[in-house]
Amino acid sequence: MRVAIMGAGIGGLALAQGLLKAGVDVTVFERDPSPQYRKQGYRIHISPVGEEALAAVLPDAVRRRVIATATQPGDLVAGFDAQLNTQFEQVFPVAGPDSVTSVDRYAFRRALMTGLDDVLEFGKQFTSYVETPDGVEVAFADGTSAVADVLVGADGVGSRVRGSLLPDQDVVDIGVRCIYGKVPLTPAVRAIAPAAFLRGFCFASDGSGLGAAFGPVVFREAPAEYGDYLMAVLTGTNEVLGTSDEELFAMSPADLWGIVARSVADWHPAIRSLVDAAEVDAAFPITLRTCIDVPSWSSEHVTLLGDAVHPMTPAAGAGANTALWDAARLTRALTSGEDLASYQRDMIANGQAAVTESLENAERLFGVSIPA
Ligand SMILES: Cc1cc2nc3c(=O)[nH]c(=O)nc-3n(C[C@H](O)[C@H](O)[C@H](O)COP(=O)(O)OP(=O)(O)OC[C@H]3O[C@@H](n4cnc5c(N)ncnc54)[C@H](O)[C@@H]3O)c2cc1C
Repeated sequence: MRVAIMGAGIGGLALAQGLLKAGVDVTVFERDPSPQYRKQGYRIHISPVGEEALAAVLPDAVRRRVIATATQPGDLVAGFDAQLNTQFEQVFPVAGPDSVTSVDRYAFRRALMTGLDDVLEFGKQFTSYVETPDGVEVAFADGTSAVADVLVGADGVGSRVRGSLLPDQDVVDIGVRCIYGKVPLTPAVRAIAPAAFLRGFCFASDGSGLGAAFGPVVFREAPAEYGDYLMAVLTGTNEVLGTSDEELFAMSPADLWGIVARSVADWHPAIRSLVDAAEVDAAFPITLRTCIDVPSWSSEHVTLLGDAVHPMTPAAGAGANTALWDAARLTRALTSGEDLASYQRDMIANGQAAVTESLENAERLFGVSIPA
């Protein structure tokens, strides 16, 4: 069986590892020109569901790379008001040295690429496919094509595979924008950061619809390109941020970070100092999008996983973990003679539960109402 995976993101790479380990003929096609660093980063919480999926699909050497490049585990999730008064706090036992509880997105993807050199093709932007009596023929933007028995769309929230397979499937913009940034964890920053921000994921809100999330990324083994940092993300609607999408997505990193600095000007001095200490060039904006219902379809040769089929807001910390779950379930289906329908049935049930939880959390956390 030949499997062609579109997208070398978290789900596509995990699936490729699982299939390669089982001896399946697999190729991953990624539109990025190379695996080199580009702005894409955030700290991703890995849940026990994600850890279990990684253990199921990864060969031991790759799993060791994932563990080595993960972040030091934290022991706290907490919420604050803008003056840093604690609103809620949950303390966890510190995870063991072989546990993966959060990762840096770039470092994680690089670790997941370990051993895939011969099956990973960069600069391949999927454009369309046709089903043939024997399988699928896939076309790329560079004019080349590939044939496979099974095509897996693992090409993220804007999936073109989904666009061809399910042209009527809606992805909803929940109206929340994030300005993502990084504060390098220098000794001076460690000295001014509230202790909780160095222990785990923290969210502060001023009650007007503005929120700011912070999470430490303290590497076990840092990538060559950068070191430990504090993830810092401002969230709000366009109205609350005082900018249109047209303006926001055309801004320079310095102007984006100017919005963050203005937004927290009246907040606790420690938060203001952290914002002042950020690496301004790292700033970039994100739109939060979700599906409402995970779709079903019928095809013997084409399937989807991860954000390509069930994009969700980050409010439940579940998108990547659900993509990993999909990868493990699809590996099992493709290596044990099951049909794709059985994978789709389980993926839809599991994905829908995660989407519903993320919708409920997003309404509570961001104060928005998401149309059903
Ligand atoms: C701010 C933020 C914080 C988050 N935090 C968490 C968290 O803590 N925990 C969690 O579980 N999830 C989190 N998520 C969600 C998580 O990042 C996604 O759910 C996850 O990356 C989905 O993985 P994926 O493999 O489906 O898609 P992606 O990781 O998006 O990968 C898709 C890949 O496909 C490639 N591609 C796209 N189009 C094409 C094409 N036409 N041809 C070829 N390749 C293509 C892309 O370049 C990319 O490499 C967060 C998301 C955001 C925005």
